[in-house]
Amino acid sequence: MPYFGIPTFATLLVHYRLGHSMSLGVAIIDTTCRCNLSCSVCYYKRHKSTKELSLSEWKIKLLELKKKGTAFVTWTGGEPLLRPEVIELGRRIFPFNTVFTNGTNPIPDWQDVVFYVSIDGTKTSYEKIRGKQYETVKSTIRNSSQPVIVTMVINKVNKKCIENYLDEWLKEPNVRAVAFSFYTGSETTGYDELLLRDGELQKIVERLKKAKRKYGESLIMTEKMADLFLPQNRLRAVGLRCVVKSFTCLDAEGKNKLPCSMTNSNCERCGQFIPYAFTSIFQRGDIELVNLVRKLWIRV
Ligand code: SF4
Repeated sequence: MPYFGIPTFATLLVHYRLGHSMSLGVAIIDTTCRCNLSCSVCYYKRHKSTKELSLSEWKIKLLELKKKGTAFVTWTGGEPLLRPEVIELGRRIFPFNTVFTNGTNPIPDWQDVVFYVSIDGTKTSYEKIRGKQYETVKSTIRNSSQPVIVTMVINKVNKKCIENYLDEWLKEPNVRAVAFSFYTGSETTGYDELLLRDGELQKIVERLKKAKRKYGESLIMTEKMADLFLPQNRLRAVGLRCVVKSFTCLDAEGKNKLPCSMTNSNCERCGQFIPYAFTSIFQRGDIELVNLVRKLWIRV
């Protein structure tokens, strides 16, 4: 496991303070444009391209990124574990790698990689949103050679089950922690029946803060970060100077995604984890979150 210590954090801070023209050494890469599921919350479903870089083309691209200072890579998709060979290549090039998977494929034995498994709710909500593979995903986690982080996109369908979700998944020995984000919606596909209204958001933020007091470090969020999800903070505090716009965001063809990995999304409604975590750390001085993030890379 690479060392994520004070020097690494200081480097990120200096990059951030120097301005958003620098990439902060962070890249978000669509490993593949294919997925074996078709979830209603997925922003990627509107992406129609089927073209992907070959492994040798990725090698050239990834080495270029490394030369430009990229150190932190988040592998998404599509379902990234449909192309494990691309990540296998990337983990030999970059020190910090995170994979977001739907949990339907076995988790490779890569002890230097942090895995997030997307599970949008307890069984009933999950099946409405993602389909019938809840037990398969649970088996994947139980059979994983390393503990994972489970992650839920909060939306209208699953909003009631947050506390039950925490109770259920944090009992699993192979679950290290839980992370939440909010459903963002899309300008083009209009799954708006899943979007939360402002009043609902406010209540959920309070519930998350209460859960944080109960579950401590098992919930990767701080009260400071939770407050950023309030409707009045989304655009003003996060979206207008969103750090993700400065990341290198690539699609499966290796092309830049603009303005961010979400493409076409509305910053006012954005509920992604990463912009809120970075804003909390770099604008609000959220040391508690820094320590939580460090522990993701330093197994304690
Ligand atoms: S949609 Fe979200 S991630 Fe993209 S620029 Fe806006 S706030 Fe940032």
